[in-house]
Amino acid sequence: MPTITAKTKILGVIGHPIEHSMSPIMHNTAINDLKLDYVYLAFDIEPQDLSKAINVFRALNIKGISVTIPHKEAIMEYLDEIDPIAENIGAVNTIKNENGYLKARNTDGAGGKQSLIENSCELSDKKVLFIGAGGAARALSYFIAEDVAQIIFLNIRKERSKLLAKELNERTGVKTFADAISNYNLKKFCATSDIVINTSPIGMYPKIEETPVPKEFLNKNLFVFDIIYNPLKTKLLKNAEDIGCKTLGGLDMLVNQGFLAFEWWTEKTPKKELMRNTVKKFLGIK
Ligand code: NAP
Repeated sequence: MPTITAKTKILGVIGHPIEHSMSPIMHNTAINDLKLDYVYLAFDIEPQDLSKAINVFRALNIKGISVTIPHKEAIMEYLDEIDPIAENIGAVNTIKNENGYLKARNTDGAGGKQSLIENSCELSDKKVLFIGAGGAARALSYFIAEDVAQIIFLNIRKERSKLLAKELNERTGVKTFADAISNYNLKKFCATSDIVINTSPIGMYPKIEETPVPKEFLNKNLFVFDIIYNPLKTKLLKNAEDIGCKTLGGLDMLVNQGFLAFEWWTEKTPKKELMRNTVKKFLGIK
């Protein structure tokens, strides 16, 4: 590990809780590999302290910040410049500090779409079912809207999925539909969709025996993408694999969104495979 000096530039991630974040291990490995004079830290910031934290970033000249749950939407009011795509999405996950001027982007959507393309998921004219309608669903649906034929959102809070479907349709023109998550709707839309994307936390560690979609509703023609990366293979993905579906876990999206942030902050290109293997090793899977 390179020596930290008085000149070392600071990057970091903010969220609450934050101790399970994979970002420090992933970014510090890339920093060390490229022998850059940066260090990447994790900051546990409670929602009521968000505005104070922003002042600290400016005061301490922290160069780049990743933003995770629950701050991706709330942080927007404190920033100086938000790129138009992130503005449309309504959430940011990456901030760059240019001498106290805070610019923000959303790399989740681009990272997620890139993962689908890299894993041979055909998007053109497909019907896509999203489970969940939170920040990640907003970002990813916005990015794939230009390719696909229709996007359906099923969520616990029906109003939230309806609002997302309406905004996405107005801003991109893609055909949308939204409703509450129920066995009736899951069965109906799994049978008529091409791609299923889980953006809810169902199945995430430690509740790894849970799945958002009962196995009997899946069919072998579906491409199933679970954006959860801990565990790397969720119950949903195991069930989908058993049935013969093509599947993708959340690790590639995590790496791709981190890769895009790293390039923006440092203007250097990290090794994607190194970042990927580091997270895999950290999660204890070869
Ligand atoms: P978020 O904004 O809090 O949204 C979570 C969504 O899941 C909401 O729509 C919520 O429904 C729904 N939900 C929550 N608990 C649920 C439950 N028990 N049953 C059904 N639905 C439930 O969070 P997010 O930022 O979108 O992140 C969601 C997940 O994606 C997390 O597991 C996160 O770790 C993962 N993620 C992965 C990556 C990656 O790079 N791989 C990137 C971003 C996020 P309501 O609206 O009704 O509350």
